[in-house]
Amino acid sequence: MKKIAVLTSGGDAPGMNAAIRAVVRKARFHGVDVVGVYHGYEGLYNGKFELLDIGSVGDIIQRGGTKLYSARFPEFKQDEFQYKAIELMKEEGIEGLVVIGGDGSYRGAMQLTEKGFPCVGIPGTIDNDVPGTEYTIGFDTALNTVVESIDKIRDTATSHENTFVIEVMGRDAGDIALWSGLAAGAESILIPEESFEIEDIVTRLERGAARGKRHSIIIVAEGVMNGHKLAKQLEERTGVKIRTSVLGHIQRGGSPSARDRVLAGRFGARAVELLLENKGGRAVGVKNHEVIDYDLREAFETKHKADLSLYTLSKELSI
Ligand code: ADP
Repeated sequence: MKKIAVLTSGGDAPGMNAAIRAVVRKARFHGVDVVGVYHGYEGLYNGKFELLDIGSVGDIIQRGGTKLYSARFPEFKQDEFQYKAIELMKEEGIEGLVVIGGDGSYRGAMQLTEKGFPCVGIPGTIDNDVPGTEYTIGFDTALNTVVESIDKIRDTATSHENTFVIEVMGRDAGDIALWSGLAAGAESILIPEESFEIEDIVTRLERGAARGKRHSIIIVAEGVMNGHKLAKQLEERTGVKIRTSVLGHIQRGGSPSARDRVLAGRFGARAVELLLENKGGRAVGVKNHEVIDYDLREAFETKHKADLSLYTLSKELSI
């Protein structure tokens, strides 16, 4: 292969820039040219291409977001859109594509691979919900942002003897809620993977109050329930004022953590190696600290599983 392309797709995540940089630098190390595709699959369909040299990815390793921008482009599910994208890439002399995104983006990559154009996937999403890898790029940064925010809310919660419900991201996956709740010592953690009893939370609050706790933190993943709604239900049960904080999009931004940058570097390099070995249709991931690769299909044909041993642990530690 003499020329490959790279794009970012779906929800952005801190560390995507570090992954783009790694793809470009690793490819150039092997004398391969890299074309950046702007706006995900929409740009692939409309030929928004730019040759990325070594200097063009300088000074981005520490930046959040994605230099190539991201987009959602549902039209790309149609075969004719995919064939046109392949045609455009071939006209440019591009022979392989690295897709940085979530499992939705992987579907597009698999479609192209099945149509004869080799693609490799790099997991980039703060939700950590790509099956087949223990971690995705962006999760560690988002987690640290959330924990820092909870710590700050805890300071005021303690001063005013308040109980706080904090809503964090995670529509289907509870990883952010689970890990941040555990890291910040939350009293209760609500995740989409586990059902909950409102009475259980109330009991925990009352037990805490009885032994003189000055504050309580309840973490709820957005996919479980709106934070304000949960606070209202708890107020009705306890008669105590409960405050709510919805962290929102700050969770998606910021400079990537060292861990995410290193992961992005390792993933980007392996993705290039796979294309140079003519191994399309693969996704890179990490398991037991080792970088691995596996069939792209595994990522969207199986369901992500959060580490529920952490859920059990959080219940034991927050008595
Ligand atoms: P994520 O990659 O974060 O899961 P999405 O599910 O929104 O995000 O997918 C991102 C983009 O991937 C979509 O907007 C679309 O362009 C492309 N895509 C998703 N599913 C398919 C599919 N079945 N076939 C082709 N392209 C797809």
